[in-house]
Amino acid sequence: MTDTMTPEQRHRCMSHIKGSGTKPELKVRRWLWSHGYRYRLNVKSVPGKPDIVLRPYRTAIFVNGCFWHGHGVRLEATQVESGERRVENSACCKIPTTNREFWVAKIRRNQERDQENYRLLQENGWHVIVIWECQLKPSVMERTMQAVAVLLEGNMLSLYKKHSPVPYATEEERPLPMAAEAEEAYGLQ
Ligand SMILES: [Zn+2]
Repeated sequence: MTDTMTPEQRHRCMSHIKGSGTKPELKVRRWLWSHGYRYRLNVKSVPGKPDIVLRPYRTAIFVNGCFWHGHGVRLEATQVESGERRVENSACCKIPTTNREFWVAKIRRNQERDQENYRLLQENGWHVIVIWECQLKPSVMERTMQAVAVLLEGNMLSLYKKHSPVPYATEEERPLPMAAEAEEAYGLQ
């Protein structure tokens, strides 16, 4: 890959993509909303500050950027025949050749943090759904979201079987970033 950016420029450029309210997350929110799901965003009291929290389903949804969260990459460097150690890219996560070690370390840290957050949530009776950015491409998005809907319904059902999830304080906190719709539209509790 031709690289005309300095590491700092690249870092700034990529940090920019990272923040909340990014496009993939918006797509998921719009779909869920239009299919009748109500949710809260970036709830700080829930481990990992999930992008979307569906409390009645005890489900946290993370919409992960393929680059930042290393979708499908093998981060253990493997020795290739030439004696060079190489980290494998995946179709949707191409680690820059410039500053490669830096990016590998960063993505690895993100992955470890992700796993820790998922584990914490699950231990506390919450379900975790991870949606990858590449699963939201127009050609596959509907299929992805239908699968998410199936998972959500399953999660709802499982609430009646086993218990007891930790009731994270999503209700009491104020102000809460709502799903961009009026308070009364969120007629759940
Ligand atoms: Zn991907």
